[in-house]
Amino acid sequence: MRIAVYPGSFDPVTLGHLDIIERSCKLFDKVIVAVMINSSKRPMFSVDERVALLREATKNLPNVSVDCHEGLLIDYLKKADAKILVKGLRAISDFESEFQMASVNQKLCPEVETVFIMTRTEYMYLSSSIVKEVGTLGGDITNFVTENVRVAIEQKVGGKS
Ligand code: ADP
Repeated sequence: MRIAVYPGSFDPVTLGHLDIIERSCKLFDKVIVAVMINSSKRPMFSVDERVALLREATKNLPNVSVDCHEGLLIDYLKKADAKILVKGLRAISDFESEFQMASVNQKLCPEVETVFIMTRTEYMYLSSSIVKEVGTLGGDITNFVTENVRVAIEQKVGGKS
């Protein structure tokens, strides 16, 4: 069975992430979306909230599951018995750091292969941070995120949770 792990902060999940997830589903038997816990970042959503938003947004995709992990990504792949690491590639700015991470992971665990899926052009400049920025300033984010995420951002901005 081809098990792939798609890691990220997903703070929160955007339509760009979902496009990568949907396309990965067709390539692999099972796709695990892994919310990586990074204590040096100050997220808008807690890990539990990010996992819940992802589960809701991917509920129609039967071979997708959502999990979280703190620590080395390679350790998670071993635990999940996965040999494929999926990364989305946006504008050229992603390339340098993704290339570095793929090279390091290759050294740490040669049996894991990193697979890059290129973003659709309409999502080329879409990131969680820009969505949060536009949402915080009261802009319309319906073209960037699913309905549940839009509502969750509005609640955060309105100070309701
Ligand atoms: P960000 O906070 O920058 O949106 P994440 O750390 O949550 O990103 O991203 C997880 C993965 O998803 C990374 O491989 C990243 O390159 C990819 N990704 C993020 N946004 C997009 C997008 N709009 N299109 C394609 N891939 C994306």
